[in-house]
Amino acid sequence: TDYLKRIERAEPTLNSFISVTAEQALAAADDADQARADGCAGFLTGVPISLKDIFCTQGVKTTCGSKMLDNFIAPYNATVVDKLAAAGCISLGKTNMDEFAMGSSNETSYYGAVKNPWDSAAVPGGSSGGSAAAVAAGLTPASMGSDTGGSIRQPAAFCGVTGLKPTYGRVSRYGIIAYASSLDQAGPMARTAEDCAHLLGAIAGHDLRDSTSATRGVPDYAAELDAPLAGLKIGLPREYFGDGLDPAVASAVREAVKVYESLGATVRDVSLPHTRYATSAYYVIAPAEASSNLARFDGVRFGHRCEHPEDLIDLYQRSRAEGFGEEVKRRILIGTHTLSEGFFDAYYTKAQKVRRLIRQDFLDAFDQVDVLMGPTSPTPAFDLGAQKDPVSMYLQDIYTIAVNLAGIPGISVPAGMVDGRPVGLQILGSHFAEARLLNVAHRFQ
Ligand code: GLN
Repeated sequence: TDYLKRIERAEPTLNSFISVTAEQALAAADDADQARADGCAGFLTGVPISLKDIFCTQGVKTTCGSKMLDNFIAPYNATVVDKLAAAGCISLGKTNMDEFAMGSSNETSYYGAVKNPWDSAAVPGGSSGGSAAAVAAGLTPASMGSDTGGSIRQPAAFCGVTGLKPTYGRVSRYGIIAYASSLDQAGPMARTAEDCAHLLGAIAGHDLRDSTSATRGVPDYAAELDAPLAGLKIGLPREYFGDGLDPAVASAVREAVKVYESLGATVRDVSLPHTRYATSAYYVIAPAEASSNLARFDGVRFGHRCEHPEDLIDLYQRSRAEGFGEEVKRRILIGTHTLSEGFFDAYYTKAQKVRRLIRQDFLDAFDQVDVLMGPTSPTPAFDLGAQKDPVSMYLQDIYTIAVNLAGIPGISVPAGMVDGRPVGLQILGSHFAEARLLNVAHRFQ
């Protein structure tokens, strides 16, 4: 009830929730009390959380930040949602997000922009901006986000919280509304790496309903948090400290690296030579997959339907024209174009080849070092309305999207403030190195 009260007080200005599920939360709290009384409570029993509105929740509105799904009540739960409930977590509600997870500022949401709790003139980041803002403002101890090109890590950095994008396949995507299926991955956002470790342990694992989920066992992430860092080899990718990086952000990151040196780590420069092609490859692959995934929103089975359609084509056209926002339409058009005959090889096939090279860059780097460190974002949170054209918004993701293309895990941890706005340190590891990342992040906190 304390959290529900706080939400009620803060929400009129913050706008971090799309739906608050107070009744269900109170019922779940009673169940948690009962579990405690019965002596069968687990570590997470009774812990309040919230869910980005991209996770399907049975009987609860699931909008994905879009007018298209404003009337959609999901008929089933995402696997992540079921697993959290089984662990005893209590969902407080569904958090605001960029429409269909397309954006880096939360400004494309049909439900309005979210304010950054540190500075109301600033964006909270995106697309999991509502989750990050809600955690930062103390409205929820943790939140579940999703990350296709940085959507957990960048808002975590902008709001001064910790956010982990796991290895592709570590967490089931079943019931998470698909944006770009080969890049999407769900993960926890919370105050600390320790909290993230407990939550990741609860949501990770193989799922028969997602054939891309990994079959490998889930380690006890919390058990390894305190492992010593002596001998840890840290690589600083040269390409992550180049032009366009705010010097104040660069120095906050270098200060953080010094802390690791004092803990016994060694530091060296490494190179990820294909980094400069990552944004281009991502903005071919992600819209291509999105254009295919979003074809299902046709006004027939679920979602927005236009009034009085004249025929089937008119139904499709007007339902989609009315239901989707500008950025979503832009991505669908880009994706449809790059997948069309005559352009497919020049764009899509080429982008897939670049993706392979980017992945190889990381594998080569992890032959030399244990983890990579750099900034999560080139600047602290920018002002609401500041990024006027789509390309300047796309360039915000320069340090996060290559990670999704390679499928490796990444975590953003708070690393100080610049002009009253938080800055994130991004730590990257090889496939399935989440335990190591959480350990390294934890030792900094
Ligand atoms: N900002 C990126 C995009 O708009 C990433 C979003 C995400 O990770 N969902 O595609």
